[in-house]
Amino acid sequence: MTRKRGISTRQIHHPYRAPAGWNAVPVPVAKASTVLFRDTADLHDYKPRDGKSYRYGLHGTPTSYTLAARLATLEGAEHCLLTPSGLAAITLVSMALLRPGDEVLVPDNAYGQNRYLTESFLPQFGITHRFYDPLDAAGFKSLIGDKTKLVWLEAAGSITLEFPDLLGLIAACRERGVITALDNTWGAGVAFDPFALAHGVGVDISMQALTKYPSGGADVLMGAVYTRQQALHDKLNWTHEHLGYGVASNDVELVLRSLPTLELRYHAQDASTRTLATWMQSRPEVARVLHPALPGSPGHEHWLATSSDGAACLFSAVFKPEYAMAQVDAFVDALQLFGIGYSWAGPMSLAVPYDMSRSRSLATPCGEGVIVRFAIGLEAEADLRADLEQAFAALR
Ligand SMILES: *Cc1c(COP(=O)(O)O)cnc(C)c1O
Repeated sequence: MTRKRGISTRQIHHPYRAPAGWNAVPVPVAKASTVLFRDTADLHDYKPRDGKSYRYGLHGTPTSYTLAARLATLEGAEHCLLTPSGLAAITLVSMALLRPGDEVLVPDNAYGQNRYLTESFLPQFGITHRFYDPLDAAGFKSLIGDKTKLVWLEAAGSITLEFPDLLGLIAACRERGVITALDNTWGAGVAFDPFALAHGVGVDISMQALTKYPSGGADVLMGAVYTRQQALHDKLNWTHEHLGYGVASNDVELVLRSLPTLELRYHAQDASTRTLATWMQSRPEVARVLHPALPGSPGHEHWLATSSDGAACLFSAVFKPEYAMAQVDAFVDALQLFGIGYSWAGPMSLAVPYDMSRSRSLATPCGEGVIVRFAIGLEAEADLRADLEQAFAALR
């Protein structure tokens, strides 16, 4: 009589395998820390991190490889690396490409955490930086020196939403052989093609906070780094491995689920954002509305030169100088449909007041006024307008 194995052993080593041939629309969620090898020969066979083989859960699963491949197509790239957040994607690029003695140039309106990384973390490694005006390509050119090894770009910039002279800035970097990296969270792979902008000009690297549009649900933190160049990808991949960046398959599943509606959501949110931004320009309390598609907004002409297919769900209103921060805060508190919070491109609209005098090195288009950045979600545009109207009434 054969010995009966224990309950746990029989569960863990259960011989049943579901029949092959399963086929459905969603990508199966593969979860693992341990990846099992067939035998010791398979174990000893070196498996490079090439996005094709399996070695360890951290290094990729069928689920994460599928997301990376779909995102690379969206971005017009050859290679994609997934990171645990958008910020981790930024850190990956800077850590992979910068060495002691190097300098990085960052736009003055860069995402706040990129500024913070550059100002307070990178100096520990002997990496210096300068902030530049993204609208002034001629002035930018004179900042590029022998130590400059990386230039960050962001289109449109954070909060004040100036659209940079991408073509001019990239041309200046090309001339000096400096690598360009674009934070493409705003464009999301829909508004323009970062690797093939007008006249065939493109960036070397792009990254996205998948936390925003690709998730779309305000429920995932994830990032991605893209390139078309094998040598650059190898460098990024090597650093990615050493930093121990991994993504959880349940999160990957959520992004995979949202990608088919990305383009529809992008355009729907774009349409209601532009309608509300245009309406906001007529408000007597507002000095200026910042949105790259509005004529007169900073960088509008660069947006026209670059963008073929839209704008993100963000606009900012600069309040007239007679409204102090406390009054603008009261306006934001009076809003009922707008949440107060940072991570945009989800279903709910958001509003955040900012005092720009504390977060920039160079001049901003805000003048003396307090700014409110609005992120438009998926609510009915007429409901959002009615909410803004009643909050303006509270301001007076
Ligand atoms: C949100 C955001 C990031 C960072 O993404 P997280 O996933 O929140 O770390 C980076 N860049 C831009 C432009 C963003 O809006």
